[in-house]
Amino acid sequence: MPRAKPLNHTRILFTSRSVNEAFARAALAAFLVQLDPTVPQLADIKTAVSEAVTNCIVHAYPGTLGPIQMDISLFEGDVVRIVIRDNGVGIADIPKAMEPLFTTGDPEERAGLGFAVMQSFMDTVRVASRPGHGTRVTLVRRLDRRA
Ligand code: ATP
Ligand code: MG
Repeated sequence: MPRAKPLNHTRILFTSRSVNEAFARAALAAFLVQLDPTVPQLADIKTAVSEAVTNCIVHAYPGTLGPIQMDISLFEGDVVRIVIRDNGVGIADIPKAMEPLFTTGDPEERAGLGFAVMQSFMDTVRVASRPGHGTRVTLVRRLDRRA
């Protein structure tokens, strides 16, 4: 987890409508252009962020809509940190929620693999949550320089 001051940063706030999942991915890609990522690097990060944003859309605000905030920070050494935050219901048992195949959603629609996907595509995944107050997911990935 980088402690240094970011070289660049942006913050985007959007409503937890499912249409905004594509918006978040596109905004992320537009900001990361400055790092000149490879296609697979960009795809990995977009996939991880998409899982985190989808979780806010699907789980954070049952039966209603609320805000989702995405911070993207770039650090020395091509390190990207994305923080996705909601003010929703929160997660009572984080280790349990992060277990592969665990879901509180509709088993017809949800596989319970979102956190596993984030972990496989990012260097670190950190989850902080307060039930009734919201959830914060921090994703970090260092881009290897191209040969
Ligand atoms: P999938 O991502 O495969 O569609 P899923 O969303 O249930 O299924 P995960 O993304 O791994 O699986 O999330 C696991 C569980 O963690 C969810 O079922 C939900 O209970 C909880 N959760 C995840 N993100 C949030 C959030 N932002 N707010 C509240 N609960 C969350
Ligand atoms: Mg999910």
